[in-house]
Formats: sequence, structure tokens, C-alpha cells
Amino acid sequence: MKLKKKTIWNKLWKVTSELVRLRYADKSGLVECYTCGSKKHYKQMHAGHFIKRNHKSVFFDIEMNIRPQCTKCNTFYGGRQDEFAARLIREFGYKKFLNLMNRKHEIKNWSTSELIEMLTEREKELNLYRKGVK
Ligand SMILES: [Zn+2]
Repeated sequence: MKLKKKTIWNKLWKVTSELVRLRYADKSGLVECYTCGSKKHYKQMHAGHFIKRNHKSVFFDIEMNIRPQCTKCNTFYGGRQDEFAARLIREFGYKKFLNLMNRKHEIKNWSTSELIEMLTEREKELNLYRKGVK
């Protein structure tokens, strides 16, 4: 059966979101919010985008564009973009930050096979992280 692109997209986002939260979690599953520093179990956290979700080119960019965020920052404060930007510049430097800002304007049409490939890789990585965290 051929899976619909939208179904794969949603599954890939689910895996990506958990992967981002687990990557930064300690052994007991606690993870710090990127923009306010509060700590919660990764299952209670969100994976927040810096550049918003309508920019498909950086939608799955877990190196820079997605970080664990508490529900307050991600939802009530709309992602706290000011703090997010400041943290990214501190973490990567201004040049890389600008590069990310430029990449948001790229038009990217993800093919089904690209999405499946990324999904397979991230599922593997996710399983490794799951083993290390309660
Ligand atoms: Zn927060």
C-alpha cells in the first residue's frame, strides 16, 4: 500500500518532535526549555520551531531550528522568538544564524522518498535515545 505524503509528513514530525526532546533530556527524562530554562519531563514538553512551520525548507531542521520548549513559551508566548534568536546566536554564532534566516526563504518541495528516508534514519536514532532515558 502506498502511504500518502501527508501521512508520512505527520509521522515524520511526530518522530522528529520526540527526537528533539529526547536529545536534550537527561537520564531521568528531564529536559530544559530552550527559551526560559524551566525543566520538565520530555513528554510534557513541546518541540518548538524558531522559524515558523509554514517554511517547509527548515521544518525538519533539528540542528538549529527546533528545540525543546515548555508549553508556556511555545504556546502562550508564541515561541518566544526574541529569546530563541538570542540563544541560537550564542550557540552557533551570528554567521550560522544568518544562514538559517536565509534558508527559510528557500522553496523546498519534499519528495515522498526523501521524507521516508529521513523518517527511517530518525526512527533509528530515536530508538537509541529511548534506551538511554526513563
Ligand atoms: Zn519555557
